[in-house]
Amino acid sequence: MLLPLPLREAYDYRVPDGMELAAGDYVEVPLGPRRVVGVVWGPGGGGVEAGRLKPVVRRFDAPPMTEVARRFVEWVAAYTMTPAGFVLRMAVSVPAALEPPKPLLAYLRREGAEPPAGFKMTDARTRVLAQLQDGPPRTPAELAEEAGCGVTVVRGLAEAGLLEPVMLQPVRFGRPDWTRPGPTLSADQQAAADDLRGRVRSGGYSTVLLDGVTGSGKTEVYYEAISAALAQGRQALVLLPEIALSAQWLDRFARRFGAPPVEWHSELTGAQRRDTWRAVATGEVPVVVGARSALFLPYPDLGVIIVDEEHDSAYKQEDGAIYHARDMAVARAHLGGIPIVLVSATPSLETKVNADSHRYARIALPARHGGAVLPEVELVDLRRDRPPARHWLAPGLRKALTDTLAEGEQAMLFLNRRGYAPLTLCRACGHRMQCPNCTAWLVEHRLARKLQCHHCGLQQPLPQQCPNCGEEGTMAACGPGVERIAEEVAELFPEARAAIMASDTLSGPRAIQEMVRRIADHELDIIIGTQVMAKGHHFPMLTLVGVVDADLGLNGGDLRAAERTYQLLHQVAGRAGRGERPGRVMLQTFMPEHPVMQALAAGDRDGFYQLEAEMRLEAGMPPFGRLAALIVSGEDPAQVEKVAMDLGRAAPRSDTVHVLGPAPAPLALLRGRHRRRLLLKAPRSVQVQPVIAEWLSRVEIPPAVRVQIDVDPYSF
Ligand code: ADP
Ligand code: ZN
Repeated sequence: MLLPLPLREAYDYRVPDGMELAAGDYVEVPLGPRRVVGVVWGPGGGGVEAGRLKPVVRRFDAPPMTEVARRFVEWVAAYTMTPAGFVLRMAVSVPAALEPPKPLLAYLRREGAEPPAGFKMTDARTRVLAQLQDGPPRTPAELAEEAGCGVTVVRGLAEAGLLEPVMLQPVRFGRPDWTRPGPTLSADQQAAADDLRGRVRSGGYSTVLLDGVTGSGKTEVYYEAISAALAQGRQALVLLPEIALSAQWLDRFARRFGAPPVEWHSELTGAQRRDTWRAVATGEVPVVVGARSALFLPYPDLGVIIVDEEHDSAYKQEDGAIYHARDMAVARAHLGGIPIVLVSATPSLETKVNADSHRYARIALPARHGGAVLPEVELVDLRRDRPPARHWLAPGLRKALTDTLAEGEQAMLFLNRRGYAPLTLCRACGHRMQCPNCTAWLVEHRLARKLQCHHCGLQQPLPQQCPNCGEEGTMAACGPGVERIAEEVAELFPEARAAIMASDTLSGPRAIQEMVRRIADHELDIIIGTQVMAKGHHFPMLTLVGVVDADLGLNGGDLRAAERTYQLLHQVAGRAGRGERPGRVMLQTFMPEHPVMQALAAGDRDGFYQLEAEMRLEAGMPPFGRLAALIVSGEDPAQVEKVAMDLGRAAPRSDTVHVLGPAPAPLALLRGRHRRRLLLKAPRSVQVQPVIAEWLSRVEIPPAVRVQIDVDPYSF
């Protein structure tokens, strides 16, 4: 019996007389004083005398966990070196879904109801009512969670007649209609679609890189693979890096298939999670689109997996079980014997190399659909074309903005930095405002009148005097964030309709959706955005993209910095000229000779990959070598240092395996925890997990120190 708890091993239980159990069944079992959900993993080890085992309490009436899903849990656990029970918890994330669905009590706000005499409107009560201003009816537990109070507060409001009870029926999901025809495909697109359809129809594992510039019709093509899976009565899973930003994708799917796909991500309510999990398990839901955790849903018969924007770093889960969803998806496809399609205009170097060496198949879509041309990319050399003091837009970019507005077209300014200024500094003593809990500066958010840490969320008011030297009025903002660029835009183009698009200026998926609509409908002239803007949106009137600081991602010693910057800027550039009008992209840089800038300007993607691959090969770095990181963290720096040093001394050494460090981890202080990192480096042929297991077994780690294992770290 495997339990969804941080346990490595399955536990044995006794099957009571009259109960029939098979591998994969969900059961309830006692664990100490509690009862927990478990999954029958096998016949048991027989280590303990049967008479002394505790009995299984009951078997849930739910479709059992498939053999493939169980092997997947084991595989992920072994690869990421995470306890199997911990991985199982991602697969059994909604225990309530194991019960057959019954209507749930939920509440709406009762229109016009007044509190009865003597009923005191406490803060908590007011918050609950405020939550109900908006949105669907919710269960007492959901409301209590949203309002940050106890369920009794909700019950109290209901008894006072302020809430309207309703019974929620389990949601029925619409069924996408695969027989609906898609658009007429171009010859290239048709060949790509036929290839994918063939793979889905014949089944069997294969990984395909669907490689094509933005706008070449990759989405239309992989819709055909989905349609092929549905035609066979099988399920399809589409992973998107940031589902909250994907409203346009969802609408488009609904237009193509006549029903929306079912979503899976962290914004769902408890009831939605329960209904969705159950409906996936029973096979009622044929297409799931989700964030990385959607990999662990209980598909009875998955026929194809699509990983859109496969290069995106959002696929890397960095806390809890550390895993890369793209890589795990490939493993899932392998275990399930099904095809998987990795989709990108700028694949990860890993995937590119796998395709070049024919480990993965490649399907290329070379041209933008309908003859739309790729935007012209120009470099603005900030050493020559200088913005005025305390301004950030160079004369060349200002001129381009003026021209674009004169044509009645739209422009976007991209800066991947939220807030007003990344650093606040005292002009008298040089003191920098730093987060006490993290290795990070506090970022000024002028609209919110606060300093904020982007890592731990700490907020404090803007200081009137320097906390170090006590001078008044000396604190100065240094460098730009999107708010500051918006200020410059307002100064330059007071008539233009401008708006900021960043995750903190938009309060959730609905706000993002509304902003995307306003841009698409040309209600705005200039959009100043962070990477929220970079994702796959389609804006026909957007013809100019200005990147305020193209060098931003290149600073720091990360070996992946160039790759990541290239991918991000390429994607940002792809927002321009998606409609009839040609696009123009301007990159402001101090390093116009840098290979990333040169490749972007020349449109020489493969040249860039070639160079990057040579560098990595030379350094023995991924994808040509293997890396694993050990992150040692704790609140006491001395203790952390000791464990890190012990690990360093005990490090495996051989002709092939090397350990670098300990060194400060990226973010050496995070949420009050000190972090040191050791990097294990080995050739591809070495399996690193047993080496690490043996290494860790030789070092004593006190309970207050945590050692996290990150196999294939994203940053290195
Ligand atoms: P990608 O996913 O490669 O960025 P999309 O599939 O989003 O490309 O296609 C870009 C645009 O071109 C979309 O608006 C899409 O509907 C349109 N498009 C692509 N192929 C066709 C086609 N064969 N017929 C009509 N429209 C198409
Ligand atoms: Zn912080």
